[in-house]
Amino acid sequence: MPSSCLQLVPSYICDVLVIGSGLAGACAALSARQQGAEVMLLSEGSTFSGSSFSGDTWGLGTIGPQDAADAQDLEDTILKVGSGVADPTLVHTLVSQIRPTWEWLEQAGFHLCHPQSPEQQEYIPCFDHTVREWRGIERDSFKQGFATQFDNLHLTCLPHRLLIDLICEDHRIEGAIVFDTHRKRLELIAAPAIVLATGGVAGLYGHHLGSDTQRGIAHVLAHKAGAHLVNLESIQLMEGFVAPKKNLVFSEKTFRYLSLDTESGKQLSQELLEQRSTHGPISARTGDSEVDKVIAKEGKHGCLGHYANLPAQLPELDTHYFQWLKETTGITTSDRFRLGIYAHAENGGILIDSYASTGVDGLYAAGECTGGMHGVDRLGGLSSANCMVFGRIAGMNAATWAQKHRTDNRLSYESPMYCYPKASTALPLIQDNLDRYALLNRNREGLQICMSSFTDLWDQLNAKQVTTDNIEEVVETRIAYLELTCAIFLVSTMDKRTSGFGAHIIPDR
Ligand SMILES: Cc1cc2nc3c(=O)[nH]c(=O)nc-3n(C[C@H](O)[C@H](O)[C@H](O)COP(=O)(O)OP(=O)(O)OC[C@H]3O[C@@H](n4cnc5c(N)ncnc54)[C@H](O)[C@@H]3O)c2cc1C
Repeated sequence: MPSSCLQLVPSYICDVLVIGSGLAGACAALSARQQGAEVMLLSEGSTFSGSSFSGDTWGLGTIGPQDAADAQDLEDTILKVGSGVADPTLVHTLVSQIRPTWEWLEQAGFHLCHPQSPEQQEYIPCFDHTVREWRGIERDSFKQGFATQFDNLHLTCLPHRLLIDLICEDHRIEGAIVFDTHRKRLELIAAPAIVLATGGVAGLYGHHLGSDTQRGIAHVLAHKAGAHLVNLESIQLMEGFVAPKKNLVFSEKTFRYLSLDTESGKQLSQELLEQRSTHGPISARTGDSEVDKVIAKEGKHGCLGHYANLPAQLPELDTHYFQWLKETTGITTSDRFRLGIYAHAENGGILIDSYASTGVDGLYAAGECTGGMHGVDRLGGLSSANCMVFGRIAGMNAATWAQKHRTDNRLSYESPMYCYPKASTALPLIQDNLDRYALLNRNREGLQICMSSFTDLWDQLNAKQVTTDNIEEVVETRIAYLELTCAIFLVSTMDKRTSGFGAHIIPDR
């Protein structure tokens, strides 16, 4: 072995390794363990982290069909709103499994909130045309529910582990390499089945809502192992606060009360603001993106605004939001604030089939890191439904696969000990470029400037590596390479689209 390599042997061996402990990963771990598999659940953040368990997520709702007729309508609506991009088979699996998955969770002792009042019952999710059955996920009670289940089932959780590589031989998964961020050491985990549940890619933007861990690392590793990526350009964009607090979600329902002070003095009609209040993510389909363009024009410092038209009697949902806003940030309805455009949940990702398989033997994926079941626009409440449904399916099928394929406990891995000394500058550079050129203003010239600065960084990362004994520098370089690769995938898919539709708005094409 050359002196510039570190030899690793398994630190842990299990049947099913679940990577990511948001809603999708927690459901996958639970269902795999219920099948009798030895399961390990690891995550970069603490156990129960990601956008699912982030305090900045103002409640989490999931929708589902009322009955067979509604299920058909829901499938048709998903396909229509998805503008022909979603896969009908995956959509059918998603819709048909939502209610059984709610029941599975409730039987396991989880509390799903049901609508309480007629007003809550009549709630129409964004981009939808009708009232749907819905359930609320209460973060702390879900955390507690999973923690109790995992304790009872003796499921091993490994927090603060960052996935940096997958071991794949002959198109078959054998294990993963992770970095223990507390003990600063690399670990090899041998497992015949792995479930990726690492969330989306919005964290590659400086302006992002949700978790910082969403940087597409697993997307690139899955792709390298042979999986396909789909529909990445349909990352949702929506408004969030820039000041007095950054990276915080703005409720679309409150657009209708808004007054904006734009530099150009441009006034938006009440009719347009009412229309914009019906959906969170920005869409080229809905005819109201003028509102978003006016806000985007004010740049990274955001557009100054305040609530000017509040009715005496607020709808229940808005009262709830304003209370949350005051408690979390101190922002009240009489304050002035700045709004900007943010990257939100990813609609595309690692392509899976109805069994949550990526097509690579033993490699499954679930949740926001996956794609195929959503189109360009996604109905509100279907991201968490996707996490629960395909999390459960992925766990079950990974456990079944692991029963038939033994772990190779003689597995070994050589980690090259090279680094790029300026690797820590990569993420800020990626974020700055994506914020400038790949948010709402995705014109061809900007995307090309963005790509050329990524190519320069790529050349430096590859050409300027030096040997090192410092494992943190090695990991930092590896992560920079994976984040940059994902950013390149993102921008090149955006550049290939010749027309703007759904979440992907192109002003000059
Ligand atoms: C403000 C906000 C409001 C939302 N509201 C709704 C809503 O009402 N309804 C709805 O359906 N959806 C909503 N969403 C979207 C929804 O929250 C997410 O899509 C969903 O929670 C994603 O869950 P996940 O389990 O796939 O990923 P996450 O919850 O993001 O979990 C990812 C996990 O992977 C880990 N991880 C990431 N990378 C690595 C790595 N390299 N190595 C190891 N671990 C890693 C993280 O630490 C984390 O544990 C909202 C999102 C936001 C931001």
